[in-house]
Amino acid sequence: MTTSSATSIRKGGSWLLDETASADVFTPEQLTEEHRLMAKTTSDFVENEVLPNLGQLEKKDWDLARRLIRRCGDLGLLGLPVPEEYGGLDLDKTSLLVVVEQIGPSASFATTFGGQANLCVLPLALFGTPEQKEKYLPRLVSGELVGAYALSESGSGSDALAAKTRATKQPDGSWVLNGEKMWISNGGFADVIVVFAKVDGEHFTAFIVERAFPGVSSGKEEHKMGLHGSSTTPILLQDAQVPAGNVLGEIGKGHKVALNTLNYGRFSLGAMCGGGAKAALADAVTYAAARRQFGQPIASFGAIKHKIGEMFARTYALESLAYRTAGLIDAMLATQASRTGSAVAAAFEEYAVEASIAKVAGSEILDYVLDENVQIHGGNGFVADYSAERYFRDARVNRIFEGTNEINRMLIPGMLIRRALKGDLPLIAAAKRLQDEVLSPSLGAASGDGAPLDDELRAVAAFKKVALMVLGTAMQTYGEKLTDQQEVLSYAADILIDIYSAESAALRAKEAVAQQRARDTLHAAAARVFVNDAALRVEAAARSALAAMAEGDTLRTLLAALRRILKVTPVNTVALRRALADAATEHRGYVI
Ligand SMILES: Cc1cc2nc3c(=O)[nH]c(=O)nc-3n(C[C@H](O)[C@H](O)[C@H](O)COP(=O)(O)OP(=O)(O)OC[C@H]3O[C@@H](n4cnc5c(N)ncnc54)[C@H](O)[C@@H]3O)c2cc1C
Repeated sequence: MTTSSATSIRKGGSWLLDETASADVFTPEQLTEEHRLMAKTTSDFVENEVLPNLGQLEKKDWDLARRLIRRCGDLGLLGLPVPEEYGGLDLDKTSLLVVVEQIGPSASFATTFGGQANLCVLPLALFGTPEQKEKYLPRLVSGELVGAYALSESGSGSDALAAKTRATKQPDGSWVLNGEKMWISNGGFADVIVVFAKVDGEHFTAFIVERAFPGVSSGKEEHKMGLHGSSTTPILLQDAQVPAGNVLGEIGKGHKVALNTLNYGRFSLGAMCGGGAKAALADAVTYAAARRQFGQPIASFGAIKHKIGEMFARTYALESLAYRTAGLIDAMLATQASRTGSAVAAAFEEYAVEASIAKVAGSEILDYVLDENVQIHGGNGFVADYSAERYFRDARVNRIFEGTNEINRMLIPGMLIRRALKGDLPLIAAAKRLQDEVLSPSLGAASGDGAPLDDELRAVAAFKKVALMVLGTAMQTYGEKLTDQQEVLSYAADILIDIYSAESAALRAKEAVAQQRARDTLHAAAARVFVNDAALRVEAAARSALAAMAEGDTLRTLLAALRRILKVTPVNTVALRRALADAATEHRGYVI
């Protein structure tokens, strides 16, 4: 294994209450040579072997998909979290991040890869018995076998535990499965499928199912909006015969397998989206530099610079939060004597809030960037001759799978509140302290001493107070019924996502400036743009949330406190975005 992180261990979600030093955050600037080599190997593979073949994959050439998975196996990309004894590389989570970032731009193939590496190899590595690992992992890691993960059904997507697929134990200890799984990635050609079924219609359980088992088949390929180069089919289980030894994890504990796989998958999807956003930015600036209107490249127009600058700033924030999270997970795993499946699962569970943030921020930032890429391409963005159109369609599903963004938005504040109620996170005490402070007229952002990024970090500290104010008021107003208040929870989630993203960007930029890294002015510009606009979003979300919870004098007091807390002086984002856009255009891509 390789690990680079100098990050100290912090509990998941503690960034909401604690101050973090910039030197304590893992950033892409700290990647090791080994990480960079891994990234280069993957990007060479994607550029030379996947992207030129996307058209063929879109014709549903699954033999080609299988060969590409095999190539991933040859390159060692399928077994990053797998112990060496089962053919894996047992690398840190930063390695996972750099690999999936490079695979992200291949969208359709990235889904095939994710179905294999994240959704099949990973649960087997985390929950398999030694016999199961020995039997399946080496052949999945080498790419000889293709994997899939079948949780969803037509009647149970978000409500996955309501699955109807049934498993019945036979007198000889084996199982018979009946049911139909829907929308399964790699469904058309996977050999090994992690299938969730209810034992006796009651106990939710994971099974390892081979396509070769009697009674297992695929339905027809779905006609999708995008990802045409990825197989998506139902998996039909008609008296499917599964051996006794193929229960994955414990009977009745399938939710553990499902949720831990999702925690990992969400982190990975966020990183894939970051890779996609960087590729789209390169596409946009390349086009904008070449396309001329009114006698000049469209890249020279302020309206286009605004778009490119904003695409840059959001991509920077996403990249910063993804690397910060990888650093946190790696720091926790580095302290463990043995990195067993349960230790890895525990680390992902610890940072489940951050993984959900990565998923929501990643998918929404990518959609924003791809939408602007279409716009920059004008009419050419709307026709299939240019890749902008395909990437736009391909990305839409990221907000739907791995837990919809609505479900993840419920989870983000929900998990933090649960930890607070368990006493693991002193959120309630902090919210009470803030409530006392709210009545103090001295409250407000202190003026800066001029050190770079200090104003932005002070703004983030103010965002945190706003989050505490909203969460504290919500807990007080609704008590145990807070889960019914999805709109308020969604506003809280939006604020929390902006806090983690903005702080990750500002801390990284501060460190880049302190270390006088190359292009530190671009770091600072990207972070300042992001924090400036986050302040506007945080204020809007907080006002809407507070107005839903209070009225009259109480609301007026809360809004007055909000104004005092959120004294964020606007910066000249026009100039900053122009600087970002000019640098990206000059370098034909995201440059930092
Ligand atoms: C291309 C593709 C590939 C996929 N690959 C896989 C795969 O490999 N394996 C697999 O198991 N599944 C896969 N899926 C399925 C995917 O995970 C589900 O579509 C997803 O979980 C959403 O479930 P659903 O479609 O039933 O939507 P629903 O759950 O019906 O949701 C519909 C809408 O209602 C909202 N909603 C639902 N419940 C709530 C709630 N409690 N509160 C607020 N809002 C709510 C949702 O956010 C959404 O906006 C894939 C789907 C697609 C499209």
